[in-house]
Amino acid sequence: MPRLLSYLRPYRLRVAIAIALSFGVGALTFLSFGALIPTLNTLFGTSGLEGVREDTARALGYVSPDLGTWFTDTFFTSKPATFFTLVVAVILMTFVRGTLRYLNVTLVGTVAIAAARDLTNELFAHLVRQPVLFVEREGVGTVASRFTADADEVVRGLKTFTGTVFREPIQFAFLLVFALSISPLLTAVSFVIFPLIALLIRQVGRVAKRNAKRVLAHRSTLLSILQESFFGIRVVQTFSAEDRTADRFRGENARLFDRNRRLVRVEAATSPAMEILATLGISGAVLAGGMMVFDAKLDAGQFLAFYLAVGALYEPIRKVGSAVPRLQGGFAGAARIFAYLDRAAEVRDAPGATGLAPLSEEIRFEGVSVTYGGRADALTDLDVTIPAGEQVALVGTSGAGKSTFVGLLPRLFDPEEGVVSFDGTDLREATLASIRRQTAIVPQETVLMNDTVRANIAFARPDATADEIHEAARAARVTEFVDRLEHGLDTVVGERGAALSGGQRQRVAIARALLTNPSILILDEAVSNVDEESANLIREALEETRDGRTTFVITHRLETISRSDRIVVLDRGRLAAVGTHGDLMESSAAYRRLVGGGDRG
Ligand code: ADP
Repeated sequence: MPRLLSYLRPYRLRVAIAIALSFGVGALTFLSFGALIPTLNTLFGTSGLEGVREDTARALGYVSPDLGTWFTDTFFTSKPATFFTLVVAVILMTFVRGTLRYLNVTLVGTVAIAAARDLTNELFAHLVRQPVLFVEREGVGTVASRFTADADEVVRGLKTFTGTVFREPIQFAFLLVFALSISPLLTAVSFVIFPLIALLIRQVGRVAKRNAKRVLAHRSTLLSILQESFFGIRVVQTFSAEDRTADRFRGENARLFDRNRRLVRVEAATSPAMEILATLGISGAVLAGGMMVFDAKLDAGQFLAFYLAVGALYEPIRKVGSAVPRLQGGFAGAARIFAYLDRAAEVRDAPGATGLAPLSEEIRFEGVSVTYGGRADALTDLDVTIPAGEQVALVGTSGAGKSTFVGLLPRLFDPEEGVVSFDGTDLREATLASIRRQTAIVPQETVLMNDTVRANIAFARPDATADEIHEAARAARVTEFVDRLEHGLDTVVGERGAALSGGQRQRVAIARALLTNPSILILDEAVSNVDEESANLIREALEETRDGRTTFVITHRLETISRSDRIVVLDRGRLAAVGTHGDLMESSAAYRRLVGGGDRG
């Protein structure tokens, strides 16, 4: 809980000003009610203008004795003038009070959204560094809701905390002091009577609600009889149970009727009961006040102003009451956000990790097992060695572990058992930066940013020169289609790249990958969903640029598979076979089954 509040610390001055403003608002409320007394007494008072002048001079005299006499001498010259002055004073005070309240609410609102902004900035920066598995497991929707629903709750909670929590009790205190200043005894009486009546009124409401609930319960019993009877109508009729079922229905319907009749009575009684209770309460309190008027302990103005002020006390109480769930909501939302913030990155640099030189010899998997924390046997005891510079096709049925295999290469996660090494260095002993700098991945579906083609390619390396971008675009056959667009590389691709076809998006993704000149390029079903023409262009592009690069492709396209230097066949997480297309066609039944389906699949 204090943790969320720590996000307010940079804005504490503003919070302090907001609280000070609340005192101003409270003081003006006090004064407005105070001004009511002479206003009413001018109109209806028994002690005449002199009484009003004396009272006002005495009240203002607390500020300065001269002010009191000057004010009454100048403005309270006749009854109409006094009345007019007081009305103007109330208008002025309301105006100032409104302004202070406006400033308070603005300050409080700004502070809340500023703190939420800081929190979500921190959260975003933290989450983009989390292992991809975390985000994938949580789902983009869940992650996004931390920024939307939960952040909104936090804003609401903080607004309540810095606003309502101070503002309303302060308001309450001023009103209470006002009531006490008129008559402590009357205040005490009101404080016994009004809550008591409020409680009773609530009780009446409860009874009505309880009855309504009971009716609903009988309703649903009736509904289930309906369901049983009509879904099971064959059974009912086969066993000639129509009469029995109808009896059952009639019985339940009768009980529902009884309940409903009671509800009708209760509902009919509710409003009058509340009215009677309210009148009783008000009368009780007013009786006490009236007695004091007869005893000349209270004048007309004080009498009315007192009850208006006591009535106004209800508002702050109600607001504080509704503040509680908002605060709880805010803290709960913050707790969910903090749970994310507190997640340490699962994959990170080991102490003493070293930078890895670009791959030059081989990638080796030794006894590698991945279970995703025991949820799946994604890879089991895998041993395989890939010489650098080869194009490797990974094949296997869906769920065989192909994506898991390639996910290990940029170290998106670590194997639970075994070692993945580049040129003999265990990836866990290398820095993440040096591993990821030399790996690039083109996924099945590329989400482009709503920016130009150029910016999307340069995403991989913001410092790339125009020439480098052009070269990557050319190599990836992006030039083929952007040249036909009006703005060429500077064409904006639309939300998620919607202005481009799937094949075009994939070519942009490949240009992006090539721009970093990775020593390991991974195409994870990158051409599965693209048209034939794009698939062919992409294959050309890969063949043209594959020198000095180790390429992993996951694909169903036989053309690409058969041209690979090495084919790794996976079967339910285990290595089924390794070899060239020719070898495997001869030796591996599993491979023949996989590719036997034809070119596409
Ligand atoms: P392929 O790419 O060959 O279809 P995958 O590597 O995606 O296979 O999946 C291998 C197995 O691991 C499957 O059984 C899959 O359900 C499981 N799996 C994949 N990703 C996760 C994950 N993030 N959490 C839990 N299980 C996973």
